[in-house]
Amino acid sequence: MSVVIMKFGGTSIATPQLILSAAKKIAREKKEYDVVVVVSAMGQATDELVARSQEITSQPRARELDMLLTTGERISVALLSMALERLHLDAVSYTGSQVGIITDTRHTDARILEVKNYRIKEALRENKIPVVCGFQGVSTEKEITTLGRGGSDTTALALSAALNAEMCIIYTDVDGVFTEDPHQFPGVKKIRTISYEEMLELSCRGAQVLHPRACRVAARFTVPVEIRNSFNNRRGTFITDLGDIERPRPKAITHSDNLYLVTLVQVPKRPQYLSQIITELTHCGVHLKFFFHGIADAKRFDLSFITPLDERKRVKSLLTKIVKKLRVNMIKETTDICSVSVIGMGICAENDILSDIFEVLSKSKIHVEAVTTSELSINIFLRKKYLNRTIHTLLSKFHLKSAPQRSRRGR
Ligand code: ADP
Ligand code: ASP
Ligand code: MG
Repeated sequence: MSVVIMKFGGTSIATPQLILSAAKKIAREKKEYDVVVVVSAMGQATDELVARSQEITSQPRARELDMLLTTGERISVALLSMALERLHLDAVSYTGSQVGIITDTRHTDARILEVKNYRIKEALRENKIPVVCGFQGVSTEKEITTLGRGGSDTTALALSAALNAEMCIIYTDVDGVFTEDPHQFPGVKKIRTISYEEMLELSCRGAQVLHPRACRVAARFTVPVEIRNSFNNRRGTFITDLGDIERPRPKAITHSDNLYLVTLVQVPKRPQYLSQIITELTHCGVHLKFFFHGIADAKRFDLSFITPLDERKRVKSLLTKIVKKLRVNMIKETTDICSVSVIGMGICAENDILSDIFEVLSKSKIHVEAVTTSELSINIFLRKKYLNRTIHTLLSKFHLKSAPQRSRRGR
């Protein structure tokens, strides 16, 4: 029988009742397939565990944090297995380590090196349903690790690839992938199919519906993925390798408002300085979303970086050290910056799309700070006060939201 992986996110199993209804969905799928289940921690359990550690110390050791956070998923797998037993299905719960999800040693942000599948195949042979903890593994040093926040998606896709699964179904709290976040922008449209590349771009630029690392695994092993709502039985969004290559069009919009902009003002113009700064930042694991090298005068230049906001402390302290060494005049910083990204395969090849964007933004009196383009996206950086207006303007321009419902009064 072919294997299907079913992954349930935290909101989908937030209460015992929801765990029972997830079990019913699994029971239905089990009639046709060999099912392997991956689950997250219930509701906000992981946030609560983080908060509890903060009550003890503001800087817990990463090893101990991993040990703590992995307990959230252990509760879910045990309860879901009990729920399946109640439906007379033979289920067996496993930690990441028990099924041989081998990672590197980066605590709190580990990468999967290998999936040994120790006990999953054996359980499937016995017609059991393996219920596996998402988000965790065991390192090459035999330590318990986590894959970083949102990492259960990656577990689900890694198991799908290792088991050559027919499909990986990601159950969440929305009907699929939409043209923007449906919770923040009501009226956006559901996307029926999206390519791996577009989905990856969408998630890297802000849409958290599927973790970027999970998208990469799906694309690399061409695992068919469906994102579905766990609260209804509607068909969701399919992620496949079919793109609209010959018909470039904006497919979705996403945004990020957790950004940090920092500028080194008047860096002396020496060739090694730029590489020195970039190397120091990237070696310390800073994620550069954007950097801009502007010319101030013949001898000095300004250098601006945009990074995720949660890296602010690290970036600031690194740059402060660099500034002293390089005799830079000043650091300017702001958190009043956000990005809006228009996603679609090949959209940059269509000049009309870029000019349309600038035309509507200028009509709406929206001031753009910076722009980057790639084969898959046009990314606009702006002050936060323009964020919502920009998204609404672009959703309307590219017909990415449904027409407002007509009033039935007077009929
Ligand atoms: P889970 O707990 O199931 O992993 P997440 O919170 O990680 O769920 O992801 C689902 C959320 O992603 C949705 O509730 C929605 O608010 C958000 N989201 C952001 N952008 C999009 C989008 N383009 N389409 C669908 N959902 C999106
Ligand atoms: N429970 C973990 C988190 O909240 C992993 C996940 O939900 O994917 O980040
Ligand atoms: Mg998630």
